[in-house]
Amino acid sequence: MSGEPLVVVLIGPGGVGKGTLARRLVERDGHLWLSRSWTTRAPRPHESDLDYAFVGREAFARAIDEGRFLEWAEFHGQLYGTPRPTPPAGHDVLLEIDVQGAEQVKRLVPDAVVVLVTAPDDSSLEARLRGRGDDEAHVRARLASAPAEIERGRRLADRVVVNDDPDRAAGEIVSILEGLRRARRTPAGG
Ligand code: 5GP
Repeated sequence: MSGEPLVVVLIGPGGVGKGTLARRLVERDGHLWLSRSWTTRAPRPHESDLDYAFVGREAFARAIDEGRFLEWAEFHGQLYGTPRPTPPAGHDVLLEIDVQGAEQVKRLVPDAVVVLVTAPDDSSLEARLRGRGDDEAHVRARLASAPAEIERGRRLADRVVVNDDPDRAAGEIVSILEGLRRARRTPAGG
């Protein structure tokens, strides 16, 4: 691979399984590098430093001032940000972020590919959101904001993938990426 890395952005409502999908994608596609975000929210019971850099508000604010983020946004009262990506040579960049962040990335990197991940039905979204150990008020707030996030995501997205099964959905995204890489290697009109 040559030239600038492709930037792939996964967006979608909470509970849609973006995190699992992102991990499957880097397992299946040896040329994808998954960015690790910073967040001010507390770790969930099963999370570790591999999932996020968990930081306080002061450290986050300092990183903003120092220009360390490609993008950052406030989501349900917590701050989330993507450090400026540092992929190994020959790797494309995968971001798993919210729609506000994706809008910023698309302004900065117009060639970025935004993939909206949707759930096959509302009940699977709700079940996943409840299964992560967040409190009820938070789950309700996230469910209430999902339709608007999806709507905003549809306006931005280059592709929409239904996460009916993580292996199938990951396979679909890998095929999309292979197509995009081929198109980038082929000179326009050639
Ligand atoms: P959660 O708290 O459920 O891990 O994440 C909440 C939302 O923040 C999800 O939509 C997730 O994709 C998004 N998110 C995670 N990391 C980032 C980031 O670096 N920037 C932005 N803008 N959103 C992020």
